[in-house]
Amino acid sequence: MSLDRVARERLVRALAGSVIEHADELTSLDQAIGDGDHGLNMKRGFEAVLAALPGLADKSLPEMLKAIGMTLVMKVGGASGPLVGTFFMELGKALPEQPSRSDLVAATEKAIEAVKARGRSEAGQKTLLDVLVPVHAVLAGGGDAKAIAAEAAQAADRTTPMQAIRGRASFLGERSIGHMDPGSRSASLLIGAAVETLEF
Ligand code: ADP
Ligand code: MG
Ligand code: MG
Repeated sequence: MSLDRVARERLVRALAGSVIEHADELTSLDQAIGDGDHGLNMKRGFEAVLAALPGLADKSLPEMLKAIGMTLVMKVGGASGPLVGTFFMELGKALPEQPSRSDLVAATEKAIEAVKARGRSEAGQKTLLDVLVPVHAVLAGGGDAKAIAAEAAQAADRTTPMQAIRGRASFLGERSIGHMDPGSRSASLLIGAAVETLEF
């Protein structure tokens, strides 16, 4: 997988656009089981990423991902900022400049482990890990872009019947059941945008 400057810029625009265009939806998901700021949090973060764009795309892929992660940690805020930011930063740290598919599998695994450590969380607790972990399994199993995007969307849907064990939604106990996890939806949007832009 080799991304030239144009492809890196296209990737950043697709990632940012996917959450900015769905900010209202993310907000209403978070209104149901959180404090209603997830759409705004993600939008603020990715607008800051877009504002840094000309310089961002000049960087190598790993350096660009690290810079995106740092911007997200600083700008998104909430519980999700440090978690999504950590994912991008660790991905950048773990990826070589021209990653093979197996490099991508290994690097996303490391980034997921870093998110788990940061959130003291694991899959099954109605968080973005419920998208990241099953999508990683499809990636590791050789799934193509279509299979990865489909798994991301289905995994976000599968958080609806779960009870939240981590994050603000966990305060609701059983009342968190029946609503999709906002962070899982944004993760699914970002993954969908990434695989649409990248070649697998
Ligand atoms: P906040 O809850 O601080 O308002 P956001 O609304 O931006 O933050 O993000 C909420 C999302 O963050 C949740 O939907 C969930 O996916 C994710 N999340 C929250 N806490 C954790 C955690 N400990 N581990 C993993 N993900 C978490
Ligand atoms: Mg919130
Ligand atoms: Mg909040």
